[in-house]
Amino acid sequence: MRWELDWLEARASLTPKAAAIVDAETDQGWSYSEVNDRAKAIAAWLKTNGVKKGDRIALLAPNGISYFDMLFACGKIGAIFVPLNWRLSVDELAFIIKDCEPTILAFHSNFTKEVTMIWGEEDRCIQINGTRMSRLIEESAGQREMREMDLDEEDPLAMIYTGGTTGKPKGAVLSHRAIIWNSISTIASWNLTNEDTTVTYLPLFHTGGLNALSVPILMAGGKVVLANDFTPEKAIGNLIRYKCSIVLFVPTMHHMLVKSEQFNEAEFLDMKLFLSGGAPCPHEIYEAYKQKGIAFKEGYGLTEAGPNNFYIDPSEADVKRGSVGKPMLFNSIKIMSEDGSEVLAGEVGELAIKGKHAFSYYWKNETATDSTWKDGWLHTGDLARKDEDGYYYIVGRKKEMIITGGENVYPLEIEHWLFSHPSIQEAAVVGVADDKWGEAVTAFVVIEEGAALSEVEVKKYCRQKLGSYKVPKNIHFVSQMPKTHVGKIDKKLLKEMARKNQKPV
Ligand code: AMP
Repeated sequence: MRWELDWLEARASLTPKAAAIVDAETDQGWSYSEVNDRAKAIAAWLKTNGVKKGDRIALLAPNGISYFDMLFACGKIGAIFVPLNWRLSVDELAFIIKDCEPTILAFHSNFTKEVTMIWGEEDRCIQINGTRMSRLIEESAGQREMREMDLDEEDPLAMIYTGGTTGKPKGAVLSHRAIIWNSISTIASWNLTNEDTTVTYLPLFHTGGLNALSVPILMAGGKVVLANDFTPEKAIGNLIRYKCSIVLFVPTMHHMLVKSEQFNEAEFLDMKLFLSGGAPCPHEIYEAYKQKGIAFKEGYGLTEAGPNNFYIDPSEADVKRGSVGKPMLFNSIKIMSEDGSEVLAGEVGELAIKGKHAFSYYWKNETATDSTWKDGWLHTGDLARKDEDGYYYIVGRKKEMIITGGENVYPLEIEHWLFSHPSIQEAAVVGVADDKWGEAVTAFVVIEEGAALSEVEVKKYCRQKLGSYKVPKNIHFVSQMPKTHVGKIDKKLLKEMARKNQKPV
């Protein structure tokens, strides 16, 4: 094996006794040498069960040590770790299983029913929270490393399925090189150290839970606390109890957190930074952290690119509100116009990325791979602009841009303004086919509990700030937003809803 790729072995040798992972539910913890020993034991078991280099190992489980057991075990024997999104339906899971054809399916007993339906064979699967797994870890304790593995940094280490709402999910293949360099770049750019502790509520089957912070913190020698079932009370309790210094939540979680009673009373003495990512963050969340004197910043990422790409110093984050910062170390970014040239500062174009942290290809999907990788640049499908000082702002998805009466409208700009209304809890803007306008700007709004707001009032509020062509033609009040399996607003569904009951303009 290319020895330098097994960084867990090296980390376990440098700081064997340091705490690496803790399960918040049971408070059980594992040191670096214990995490490494578990991975070696599982790797040995996988090998004796016929797993070869390049084979896929799927995992269906809530957040827990099993994700790192499987990721690191796969890394040691050249297998590909495929974490499965347990929020998917049985049919969607069956599609992924058929697509990636795993050799072994590891699962938690919470999902026995689903496994019976999608797997259908008793062998080649293992329950990760059963006695068989504990026995194999105990029996293989003290396994020697597998230096003989012939492994290259370009070999795939993980495959994360993404993009379920825009078609069939695609498996983004991440090499050892991509995962290592995302961590190196994150550690260097975000100043992570072995003193950092995070709690991971984001699902580990998603890049936000796995690669954004958990793996980089482990590489840096810090501590990762694993948790499930986010509530503001439990999250605040764990942040304080485990003396967390950094945490990544999606905007919905931040919203729940800052609105909770406990947030006002809590003192986050050890917290250095609250991070938001995965979706645009309303400015009221910046404001809530600012009021409490807590550092907060927004990040941008995607499964295919690390996910991490930018850094903004927390002291700049408030001044440059809404910016995701500047490119991280070892990362090139450009904003491109339709003809492939770079746009000028202030202009909007597609964000393209180049760096060692980027994915390799989509599993068995050359068409999607070719339309994403062009001239050595990863085309993100996201629109962005850069200001005169070099700070980047995400403007929205390319596919979501609305063309109304010949004008380009970026939903995010309208959403940010709607979010700033004190009676609006959540807002999403989509374009809906319209005879007169081509596309009509259409807003969906969730009102804060106990508040009242009319369509006329929302439009009037929009006119205060936005050009007339950006003011939504239609406003739909909904009790909650439909969300995708990774918790983002499902705009495809909103468009369908709008099409069905569109009012005359
Ligand atoms: P995923 O691969 O599931 O992490 O989704 C990546 C997508 O999430 C990106 O391509 C963006 O469209 C969106 N996204 C991530 N971070 C942000 C952000 N800070 N602001 C706006 N959109 C974001």
